[in-house]
Amino acid sequence: MTHVAFIGLGRMGHGMAGRYLDAGFSVAAWNRSRAKADDLIARGARFAASPADAARGADAIVTMVADDEASRDVWLGADGAATTAKAGALAIECSTVSYQHALDLASDLRDRGLVYIDSPVTGLPDAAASGKLTLLVGAAPADLDRARPFLAPLGSTIRHFGGVGSGTVYKLINNLMGAVQIAGLAEGLAIAEQAGLDMPLVLESIEHGVAASPQVVRHARRMVARDFSGATFTAALRQKDAAYAVRLAESLLPDVPIGRAAVRAYDKAKAYAPDDDEGRMIEIVSQRKDDISK
Ligand code: NAP
Repeated sequence: MTHVAFIGLGRMGHGMAGRYLDAGFSVAAWNRSRAKADDLIARGARFAASPADAARGADAIVTMVADDEASRDVWLGADGAATTAKAGALAIECSTVSYQHALDLASDLRDRGLVYIDSPVTGLPDAAASGKLTLLVGAAPADLDRARPFLAPLGSTIRHFGGVGSGTVYKLINNLMGAVQIAGLAEGLAIAEQAGLDMPLVLESIEHGVAASPQVVRHARRMVARDFSGATFTAALRQKDAAYAVRLAESLLPDVPIGRAAVRAYDKAKAYAPDDDEGRMIEIVSQRKDDISK
């Protein structure tokens, strides 16, 4: 049986690990907080004592953790997956990490005999749990071909941008553009509310107007209703993605004023409610000037 180590069972990783079980892989799973693995264990996963324990004997090691720091810990820490992974195993990093981290990690793991591909994803937790993610791959073509059987349970849309790191570049620009749209939407809606417009009409007009990206449509009603139940993507994670994207942009472009403004907006959203839905951005933007000065 083909053996997968799956590391990181948060909103996204939990569903992704379940897809490997459904597809008949033998799965060793690890998460920092063990309770998130309970139902996966009941479905047949082995809970590993550490990332190193999960990776022992695995044909592929797939990680889905928060950020660079978490990725470094689970791959390269004292109990990291790289300490036990067998030579030639696939190292598939699905977390959204910075471009420099992707390059450094790839180089470290290659030196240890692993085959690295970056495969950050787009899609929400429901897409993760149903195998409908879009995979944004950076890898040598032969390495991607080897990885395909391990990507198939996660999603059938694979966008191959080029060599290692290129999937991460695309993921970062995608999420920076999303940050700009969501911060802009919050400002637009707050202006409309405080100017006294009919908000159902505003929503209908947004949804049928030219500014209606899927991102804008997804957030508009929730923002107006101040309904942030079932958070899928947090302010802290979006802030991280936008900041990584701007760091990359600063190495390539003379200035990125819009990206920087989005990071500043998300710095505030992260300070306000880090682990809650990013749509709560509107609660910050819509504080009236006279409320703020009190
Ligand atoms: P999440 O629910 O906050 O889960 C984060 C995961 O990272 C948890 O398993 C957490 O462990 C682990 N983690 C954090 N710091 C760690 C550390 N220092 N060492 C070990 N593990 C650590 O986040 P998510 O929404 O699943 O997102 C995971 C990744 O997917 C992120 O890179 C995110 O940007 C990306 N992403 C998310 C979405 C989305 O819609 N949510 C969509 C596409 C991509 P604990 O459970 O112990 O805290």
